[in-house]
Amino acid sequence: MKSFFEKPKPTLSFEIFPPKGEGKLNTIFETIDALASLTPDLISVTYGAAGTSREYTAEIASKIQNSYSIPAVAHLTCVGSTKEQMRETLSDIKAKNIKNILALRGDLSEETQLSDFHYASDLIKFIKEEHYDFKIFAGCYPEKHTEALTPNDDLINLKKKTDCGVDVLISQLFFDNDLFYKFRDNAISIGINTPIEAGIMPITSGKQIERIVSLCGASLPLKVQNLIKTYSHNSMAMKEAGIAYATAQIIDLLANGVEGIHLYTMNRPEIAKRIAENLRGILYSLRIKRGEK
Ligand code: FAD
Repeated sequence: MKSFFEKPKPTLSFEIFPPKGEGKLNTIFETIDALASLTPDLISVTYGAAGTSREYTAEIASKIQNSYSIPAVAHLTCVGSTKEQMRETLSDIKAKNIKNILALRGDLSEETQLSDFHYASDLIKFIKEEHYDFKIFAGCYPEKHTEALTPNDDLINLKKKTDCGVDVLISQLFFDNDLFYKFRDNAISIGINTPIEAGIMPITSGKQIERIVSLCGASLPLKVQNLIKTYSHNSMAMKEAGIAYATAQIIDLLANGVEGIHLYTMNRPEIAKRIAENLRGILYSLRIKRGEK
């Protein structure tokens, strides 16, 4: 199996989350079956995001890596953990033959007790100090992280993070490509040379997307607001408009040299499938063109 880093660019990766509720674990394997047939370059598995479980992340990522032979990334948050707990978690991930970690801080809440790790960069430093040989992915925020006072502060913190040894950055979702290009230019201008993958979430329901953007701080450009206003009364129309918008967004990103597309699939393989089919010929031709250079 080729590692993610040997795959021709631009890459296409998918993000899934462990199912909520006991006895639901098997449902994720139907999702992975369907996603695997789209031959993604990588599948990442979230860790406790938006109230989902942490328990199964490594197990699911291990299945993806070892049974489906698709490179997997296990997301991992560090806030609230001690070094000893983190050692155990990392050893378990390593024992499961998972090669890639998305090293995150995790969201803070009123109950959060800061322990040995304050920022994602502390986790990355720890992984390096303890000599784990994971490839390190980390998050970045084209419209700044919600806690950062200014985009520039956030960028300076991102530079500190990448300086600890990040192999790939995956961006928070965004709907306005110009904001992503500006962020990427600013990152390069302060010496961040880590490849940045664009996180894209297809809009499939007006309510869902409004909830997500209110949590993550992404803005909804007027043309997306208009799509939602016009089509959200009908779930099929909204889904079709969302797939078309995400496809157009991705084609523009590819035309502007993006390293990879990370699709937030929301465990809906039928939508990932439609988008992957729209992109198949384009990705193929770009990989050949970039490979020829
Ligand atoms: P950091 O990089 O540590 O940044 C957090 C904040 O601290 C930022 O405002 C930053 O500017 C600031 N900061 C960083 N370093 C310093 C410093 N040295 N000094 C001062 N300030 C600093 N959450 C989950 O719970 N589970 C998941 O599976 C998950 N998956 C995600 C996947 C992606 C691609 C992304 C982008 C986010 C994901 N998240 C997930 C959400 C993430 O945990 C939150 O956004 C969290 O609030 C920040 O995590 P981080 O790793 O980006 O933090």
